[in-house]
Amino acid sequence: MAPVIAVDLGGTWTRAGVVLGDGQILAERSVATPKGGGSPAVITECVASLVRELCTSFCPRPEAIGISAAGPVDIRHGALRNPPNLPFRDIPLVEPLAAEFNLPVILVNDCHAGIIGEAVFGDARGIANAVYLTLSTGIGAGVLDGGRLLFGREGNAAEVGHFVVDTTYRVRCGCGHEGHWEGYASGSHLPRFFARWCEFHGRPLPHGRDGEPAGVFARARDGDADATAFIDELARINGRGISDLIVAYDPERIILDGAVVRENGDLIYPRCLPYIDRFLPLPEILVSRLGGRAPLLGAAVLAEGHDTPFGSFRDLLKD
Ligand SMILES: [Zn+2]
Repeated sequence: MAPVIAVDLGGTWTRAGVVLGDGQILAERSVATPKGGGSPAVITECVASLVRELCTSFCPRPEAIGISAAGPVDIRHGALRNPPNLPFRDIPLVEPLAAEFNLPVILVNDCHAGIIGEAVFGDARGIANAVYLTLSTGIGAGVLDGGRLLFGREGNAAEVGHFVVDTTYRVRCGCGHEGHWEGYASGSHLPRFFARWCEFHGRPLPHGRDGEPAGVFARARDGDADATAFIDELARINGRGISDLIVAYDPERIILDGAVVRENGDLIYPRCLPYIDRFLPLPEILVSRLGGRAPLLGAAVLAEGHDTPFGSFRDLLKD
């Protein structure tokens, strides 16, 4: 089977790779996702330019293009709708790319692509009930339920970053609502939660790098009392979110991923373990071993139209 080009369009980075059927990535490129610009076409062009470069340099005849994108996705129309971590409301992807490259193009929610990547190449192999949870620019999940992808109406099931996890600090999420998990514990919102936490507890407000995620985690490692207390509160928030996730999906295994986990895993997990409810048995919880490439690999699997543990992605789109 010819290689495919897979793209992972995230709130901070957009990366693309030439992927073979066995999951081998022949070549990879990444650029910062545009933070603004005149129109949504800057995002479409960002994706198209990576595909163009990979086609020109490494893969003149790919079989298809698979795009994994931070949701919400509208997969029937091949576009993103109101993504909280991108600067535009409606971003068309499938039609412009299909027109330029004359190839089949599929679009999938990045966490759905993540669980598919894990199911085919990672730690969800052979696990019928598994959850892929990413703590990154945003927070979201992809769910295997009885060996099938939990899809939802438009391909956005398990947008767990918008679970309500707190009513004390009343931090506003990028979607506009208060108390959502993503508004507290995602990489993009953690600095605002830290500032709010300091204000709420009468502690000095952080300045510059001290308030950025890397600065907060570094201070906690150095034993700073405020940063340490905040990391414990963050663990409580993550414990609340994971507790909700367990009762919603009853998984055998949860696979953690995302830059926040990969870079500061020791301060995220297992610190939240004491705060996870034991109403249902605790599933096995581990960190992805795919190095942040689960969504890219999952998008490649779907673009190939391979038989997967849950059937063909295109079958999911049939009414
Ligand atoms: Zn939200």
